[in-house]
Amino acid sequence: MGPGVKRLALLLALALAACSAGNQAPPQQAQAGDNWTNPGGDAGKSHHSTLADISPANVGTLGLAWQAELGTNRVLEATPVVIDGVMYTSGVAGRAYAFDASSGKELWRFEPEVDMQVNRTVCCDMANRGVAVANGKVYVAALDAKLYALDAKSGKVVWQANTVDDPQRGINSTGAPEVAGSVVVIGNGGAEYDVRGYVSAYDLETGKLAWRFHTVPRDPKLGPQDHPDLEAAVKTWDPDSRWDVGGGGTPWDAINYDPDTGLVIVGTGNGGPYHTARRSPKGGDQLYLSSLVALDAKTGRVRWYYQETPGDNWDFTATAPMILTRMTIDGQDRPVVLHAPKNGFLYIIDRRDGKLLKASPIVRVNWTKGIDPQTGKPIPNPEAADYASGPKIVFPATPGARNWHPGSYDPGSGLYFAPVQDMGNLLFMTPGRKPMTRKMLNNDAALLFGPMIAPLLGTLPPPIADAVRKLPALAEVQRLPFSSELRAIDPVTGKTRWAVPMQGWQDRGGVLTTASGLLFQGNLAGHLRVFDMKTGKLLKEIATGSSILAAPMTYRVGGVQYVAVMAAWGGGGYPYVPAYSAAYKHGNIGRILVFRLDGGPVPIPPELPPLEVAPPAPAQAPEVTPATIARGQALFFGNCVLCHSNQHRSITPDLRRMQPGTHDAFRQIVLEGLLLPNGMPRWDDVLKPADVDAIHAYLIDAQGKTRADELEKKRRGLPLDAPSLTVLSSF
Ligand code: CA
Repeated sequence: MGPGVKRLALLLALALAACSAGNQAPPQQAQAGDNWTNPGGDAGKSHHSTLADISPANVGTLGLAWQAELGTNRVLEATPVVIDGVMYTSGVAGRAYAFDASSGKELWRFEPEVDMQVNRTVCCDMANRGVAVANGKVYVAALDAKLYALDAKSGKVVWQANTVDDPQRGINSTGAPEVAGSVVVIGNGGAEYDVRGYVSAYDLETGKLAWRFHTVPRDPKLGPQDHPDLEAAVKTWDPDSRWDVGGGGTPWDAINYDPDTGLVIVGTGNGGPYHTARRSPKGGDQLYLSSLVALDAKTGRVRWYYQETPGDNWDFTATAPMILTRMTIDGQDRPVVLHAPKNGFLYIIDRRDGKLLKASPIVRVNWTKGIDPQTGKPIPNPEAADYASGPKIVFPATPGARNWHPGSYDPGSGLYFAPVQDMGNLLFMTPGRKPMTRKMLNNDAALLFGPMIAPLLGTLPPPIADAVRKLPALAEVQRLPFSSELRAIDPVTGKTRWAVPMQGWQDRGGVLTTASGLLFQGNLAGHLRVFDMKTGKLLKEIATGSSILAAPMTYRVGGVQYVAVMAAWGGGGYPYVPAYSAAYKHGNIGRILVFRLDGGPVPIPPELPPLEVAPPAPAQAPEVTPATIARGQALFFGNCVLCHSNQHRSITPDLRRMQPGTHDAFRQIVLEGLLLPNGMPRWDDVLKPADVDAIHAYLIDAQGKTRADELEKKRRGLPLDAPSLTVLSSF
């Protein structure tokens, strides 16, 4: 290229930059104050506010300002956004809402038309983690991976884009869109199924696709990769990998735009199938699974990456929320990413170049022997954690030391606050399973979480149980099956300053901190709790009767500081409603709860009626044999159990309690989509009528046994809702 051409290119670039300047979103505020401009509150998503009107001295009078019931009973995970007195937030399957943030008056709501067939390939509930707001528009992704731009004043659709790149794969979307300069970036989920992960960037104004970055390569036999950076990545995979089922790496949550560097930092998901042996048989790091990948916001090209879990075998997504901030590390002030993903480490990474600065384990970790200080890479520990060679108890467990529940970073104290789970799980290759196929659940690993390992050991096939008894880690899970804590952590050393126990391993609500030294967190038992940030002392507890997982946020309108949180149980493992939760006791009415000083009491939803004995099961068809029931059970566990765990008070129907009408329509429900509008997909592409009849026979058998058991309990005056433990095949 001659100098003249170069100059022309430069002029062209300047002209383009000038054009796009008019399209730029207003810069996100450096710190959250009256406004909370994105689900993380500020440009770095620190979930920390400078507001201090509510303080340790007056928090005793905190009470309800307003509430809104959303008319849903599935999980709420979003942190609302408030801009100039208007609250924008998202709910089940990507519904969006706008409220007057001081009165609670609903301004509009948007309910996308979602083809509920998508539920076939949604692992972890019909979740949505929030909206992006820019240029008078509200951006939200629906569960079926359609991205919507809505008019912020009316909620009317300005444009929509279908982000699905391959309708044959089980793609969904649950994360919050992220505004990055003149584009809005959205990721996708589905690595529990057959998905190849990617993020897509759309023009804020027109919805035109600006760029797309696949997080993992495609089959090299198809020719050159569809993105130049993947030519390097494909060398880290076996050429004979299971490309047909996608490879995974889905960026389903954290995507942070860094205005300082112009980078979009993306957290990528686990590998699919789970175990390297079944995904990339010759091994390899398999870029960019389980990584932070920094992309140029203008082009989508990789500028740096840090792979947190090379060759992931353990569902160790790197999708947990990240925080962009500045920290003094070894005497040097640096712009950093703070990230605590599932794999048990808390990382500090330079956000200019991806250099690893610190990596501290914050829970028990045995998948690696530690991080090599020279290379920054984890040292493998196959003896302890590679379950291809036999069952292993791996720390942390697949739900992760950290997951999607937001933590908070307070720049004043330099402390990181987050719910942290310390738990292992038993993993073994599912015996006798056929290779994974398209749209099928990731099926190569069976697992049992920490508290279930010892009680259920005797129910496992004897060779597996015998091998587990020989594992040194068995004593460790027996000593401490799990701990779930709210913690204050010094991110530089990884040391915990204080910790408050939470109730169960699913109890891990998101966190808000404020400049007045308060920490707000909800719990599954239905309390909003306020702690002294310095000591962890509980200052105030408000009973709400609603289980809370989402992070609280705060804002100020008309001189009044409010704290808001969305409340409803669900997410990963959602059919297992914990018996200690408000959802179990009061149901799972989705609502937004907003608090202020001198507020009122929260209306508590009425208690659910006591459980009734399962209704009588119909007679089995004459041709049903024990073999039919066993085949039905296997089909049920292979296809149905992720949603229908058949637990008391499940969010989805407990199929041990089907009424006669449901039994009569069983085939139509499963094969013809009779209850599709309710969220029950059709299965006629996978299951034959005889398969459905076998599943039905298994459920009739289970219903009969449940009824007999419950009649006996009733006769003896025992409660019906004793917890039942089920082996989950995959998660
Ligand atoms: Ca996963």
